Amino acid sequence: MTENKILLSVVIPAYNEAEGLETFNGELIKYVKEAVGGSYEIIYCNDGSSDNTAEIVSKWHKSDPRIRLVSLTRNFGKEYSLLSGISVAKGDALLMIDGDGQHPVELIPEFVKIWQKGAKVVVGVRKDNGNESTFKNLGSKSFYFIFNKLTSQHLVPSSTDYRLIDKSVQRAFLDMPETGRITRGMIDWLGFSTEHIYFDAKPRKYGSVGYSNRKLLGLAANSFVSLTPRPLYIFGYLGILITAASLVLGVAVLIEQIILNDPLHWRFTGTAMLGILILCLVGIVLMSQGILSLYVSNINNQSKGRPLFVVDYEKSAGIEHKY
Ligand code: UDP
Ligand code: MG
Repeated sequence: MTENKILLSVVIPAYNEAEGLETFNGELIKYVKEAVGGSYEIIYCNDGSSDNTAEIVSKWHKSDPRIRLVSLTRNFGKEYSLLSGISVAKGDALLMIDGDGQHPVELIPEFVKIWQKGAKVVVGVRKDNGNESTFKNLGSKSFYFIFNKLTSQHLVPSSTDYRLIDKSVQRAFLDMPETGRITRGMIDWLGFSTEHIYFDAKPRKYGSVGYSNRKLLGLAANSFVSLTPRPLYIFGYLGILITAASLVLGVAVLIEQIILNDPLHWRFTGTAMLGILILCLVGIVLMSQGILSLYVSNINNQSKGRPLFVVDYEKSAGIEHKY
């Protein structure tokens, strides 16, 4: 292995984590060394912290160049601070981990081992440990349920951003220029071979959760918009259903009441008929909304500028090219 070859890059989004950073960093380095020896870099992404997160990391960087700092001008949110680190990481593998100590650093050697065995993505999945509030638990359960029902993409419930990705995955990920990013969903979308590691999330020791419930709801809504256009289509389907039902009803009334002179004694009033007519019109409006949605989702997909396919490897003239 050459001097400047980096095996593992660790990327840590950090927003006001100063209080616990020293302990976290010490523990982190211990396990990173156990996993890859000295061949690593640690990138802290300061997401516009108002405490001295950036100062602490700069101090470390002076004495240890393997610790790097990317400092954003203001708070952009976790997805973007993570992205800033992913875009500068130079390692053959990249591990993202929260800076609040909730992700167990002890598992780092295992992440690396599974990657060395050939998995391109190794995902940390949180075991349900009742540490989170009922609101958060219920919220995340229903999110995964609805998401997996609505989309063709399957998200493993409680899969986190604590994950290791191969350099090839990093490259493909950086080829997705879209805004409204959901890191985990986008990595899953890329489709590389994936393994899972289950872990118990620890409670936060220091600082406070940067993700308020409002931010989480925003994230969930964004996941739908970013990863699937199907919610848009639902209204179209509803329209087809309503129009079909009202047409059947309308024809039945027409034959029974007006042509055959009400042999079944349905006694449909004028208001009821008007109701059926309105129902039919509502259906037509919804259907046209569905058609509009098809166009909107086309524009949406196009504007995301995602690659149309992602190459894992290529074989030509007897040689395998890794990406
Ligand atoms: N974080 C960030 N920017 C933000 C909010 C959070 O970089 O605007 C970082 C934070 O420092 C932590 C990670 O993202 O390392 C996860 O955040 P948090 O612990 O607040 O959320 P959780 O997912 O644990 O609820
Ligand atoms: Mg946390």
